[in-house]
Amino acid sequence: MYVENKKVDLKERKDIPVEYTWDLESMYKDKETWERDIYKVQKKSEEYSKYKEKVGQSADILLQALKDRDDLYRTVSNVYSYANMKLDQDTRVGESQALLDKALSIYVKVQESTSFLVPEILQIDPEELDKYYAEASGLKLYKQHLEDILRQREHVLSTKEENLLAQMGEVTSAPEQIYSMLNSADIKFPIIKDEDGKDIEITQGNFVPLMESKDRNVRKAAFEGLYHTYENFKNTYAQTLSGNMKKNIFSAKVRKYNSSIEASLEQNNIPVSVYDNLIKSVHNNMDSMYRYMDIRKRALGVEELHMYDLYTPIVKYVDFNIPYEQGKDLVIKGLSPLKEEYIDVLKKGFDSRWVDVYENKGKRSGAYSSGTYDSKPFILLNYQNTLDSVFTIAHEMGHSLHSYFSKGNQPYIYGGYSIFVAEVASTVNETLLLDYMLKNVKDEGERLYLLNHYLEQFRTTVYRQTMFAEFEKMIYEYAEAGNAITADYLSNTYKKLNEKYYGPNVVIDDEIAIEWARIPHFYYNYYVFQYATGYSAAVSLSQQILAEKDIAVERYLNFLKSGSSDYPINVLKMAGVDMTTEEPVNNALKLFGKLVDEMDQLV
Ligand SMILES: [Zn+2]
Repeated sequence: MYVENKKVDLKERKDIPVEYTWDLESMYKDKETWERDIYKVQKKSEEYSKYKEKVGQSADILLQALKDRDDLYRTVSNVYSYANMKLDQDTRVGESQALLDKALSIYVKVQESTSFLVPEILQIDPEELDKYYAEASGLKLYKQHLEDILRQREHVLSTKEENLLAQMGEVTSAPEQIYSMLNSADIKFPIIKDEDGKDIEITQGNFVPLMESKDRNVRKAAFEGLYHTYENFKNTYAQTLSGNMKKNIFSAKVRKYNSSIEASLEQNNIPVSVYDNLIKSVHNNMDSMYRYMDIRKRALGVEELHMYDLYTPIVKYVDFNIPYEQGKDLVIKGLSPLKEEYIDVLKKGFDSRWVDVYENKGKRSGAYSSGTYDSKPFILLNYQNTLDSVFTIAHEMGHSLHSYFSKGNQPYIYGGYSIFVAEVASTVNETLLLDYMLKNVKDEGERLYLLNHYLEQFRTTVYRQTMFAEFEKMIYEYAEAGNAITADYLSNTYKKLNEKYYGPNVVIDDEIAIEWARIPHFYYNYYVFQYATGYSAAVSLSQQILAEKDIAVERYLNFLKSGSSDYPINVLKMAGVDMTTEEPVNNALKLFGKLVDEMDQLV
């Protein structure tokens, strides 16, 4: 009912004061200028075929082909990004949908028309290429970029084989598609009683909210209802996962990698030791998690803490009621340890319409930071006067300032940053803001609420994602050793990991064994560990910033300014964290232990 009332009150976009909207007009002042870029891209992508089968002929041709490709992508990303954000601000506008469709099709065209470039670069003789740098001086700029391509030369197959593999793509993606259909469209869960005794059907969308219910009977019914249903399909789920794993193992093998994990991590030049160190460090800090679970058990006053007791809040909700202007001030104060240069840009962002602040009719939900090399680093919010909303400002501003500094200090080709470091800047900001707020709370209720917020981030981002990462590694090693992946194997392995990660203070219910079937991330091919490493790196960096001040801030800003001019592990080293060692994760988890102690005294 509350939600419905709120929807009626929503404003139309035109009624929102312009200073609280983003300034998309700074990208294109009208549809005509946008159309002009579309036309330009169309023409240039047709002309691009002039480089076909000629890329390796001379240094000048290679340089020109790279430059023209960059120009094409630079323009098409403006065209696409503008259309995307225009649609997001009011998804009901048909014209915006038409713009996006047009932008998408031209984007695909650019990809197609330039697709021969990398394979042709890979055919250039390495010694020949070395000479090229002297022949065309502009090529030096592309050295890191070209080396990154050539690094994978030994894993690229012949044109004929690559072609065959590409055509097989539709077939080998079937397990993932079948999983997605089964898991989101076809599976149906039972009807249970909600807190008011009314019938409610469990869905993928309401499962977590049901698990947060204060009524233990509701949580238990949702937990059992959902997982018993999964249990009924366990063999199908096991086969789809196994099929997807076989695809990745096959691809790693034919591309001459030692293992599927090596094949995946090598994309970003990340050593497997980073993955292993993460798991090792978390294992060494299990004790803090066990103590945290003990606090939860006491706070809930239950004799046994079950798996369905992990999501319900253990502290009283505090309504901070922070209007946007106040939220902005809080973020500025919270991030002040990052010093003048950073804060000046932050204020500039607030003052020059980077942010689309309020919800309006038809606006896309959620929040993101987006933009292009040429645009402002825009932010979409749906600001709600809550503490979460304030953290969202800090988070998205982290992304936007990372983009701002990278773009301002790097040429186009290195102006972005890799997935491995993508969440570092956003998390550093959240952590600094939390630290500030913890130091400035009004009472114990607020302190408890903030502490709990922090600890839950650690639990879900570091411990849980590392558990997922360990599971992934174990099941792939098992399959790569020639064993068959069965539902029983997956469930036994998963349950044992839950016992290890949650410890003696939690009853690991049998039902949790099948949770692996619910998690889509196991189809992402060694992706989730980056949530844990990124979070740990960020916590480690924010601790350095708070303790070492100026030197640490300078290192950190250099990291923000370096974009993708070097490999992710190296730019993080520049910032002050060496992810090839156990230290950053250990440091982050040391802080977790300290916060658990604090919470322990308050509960
Ligand atoms: Zn983010």
